Amino acid sequence: MKTVFTYELDGNLYINLTNKCTNACTFCIRNEYDGIGGYDLWLSREPSAEEIIAEITDLKAYSEFVFCGYGEPTERFDELKKVAKYIKDQGGTTRLNTNGHGNIINKRDIVPEMKGLIDIVSVSLNAGNEAEYDRVSQPSFKGAFEAVKEFIRECAQTLPKTVATVVAVPGDPLDIDAARELAAELGAEFRVRIYE
Ligand code: SF4
Repeated sequence: MKTVFTYELDGNLYINLTNKCTNACTFCIRNEYDGIGGYDLWLSREPSAEEIIAEITDLKAYSEFVFCGYGEPTERFDELKKVAKYIKDQGGTTRLNTNGHGNIINKRDIVPEMKGLIDIVSVSLNAGNEAEYDRVSQPSFKGAFEAVKEFIRECAQTLPKTVATVVAVPGDPLDIDAARELAAELGAEFRVRIYE
C-alpha cells in the first residue's frame, strides 16, 4: 500500500494531516487496519499545508473536502486552517471529522476560527453520558465528555452544519437514544454510524 496525505472515497477528497489522537476508541479502525480503500494511512511524517494543497489538483472533482486524519485533525489546526482557506477561496465545501477535543488540544477556543473555513463539522459524541463516553472513547485526559459537549454546542451556534455521531457496535450496550437526546439538546444533528 502507498502512504498518502489525501485520498478519494465516495466522491470526496479525504485529507490525512496526522495520526495523533487524544482518544483510543474501542471501535477505532486503526486498531484493525493500516488504512482504508487500499490506502496506507499511517504517516511516516506529517505533511505541510503546502504539500496537501499541491495534491488538490481539481477542486470541482469532489463534493466535499474532508479533514479526517487517520487521527485527530485539530492536532494540526494551523495547517488545517491554511488548507481550508485555500479550498473555500475557490468555492469548495469543507468538512471536519473530529473527536471534539480541539479546544483542549490547542489550549484556546478554536470554534470562532473555523467560521468561514469549515462548512460541516462531524463530532464524535460517542455516548449520552460520561461513563459510557469514557468506556467507549478512552480519552487521554479527564473531563473530555464535558469538553466534547461544549464543543458541539458552540459549533452548532457558529457553523452552518454540526452533526454529533455515535458508532453502533453489534453487541455493545451503548444507549444510543440517550446520545440522540443529548445531541438535540446541544443543537446538533445526529447520526449513527454502523461499525463494520
Ligand atoms: S477519535 Fe477517531 S482516530 Fe481517535 S481513537 Fe477514536 S476513532 Fe480513532
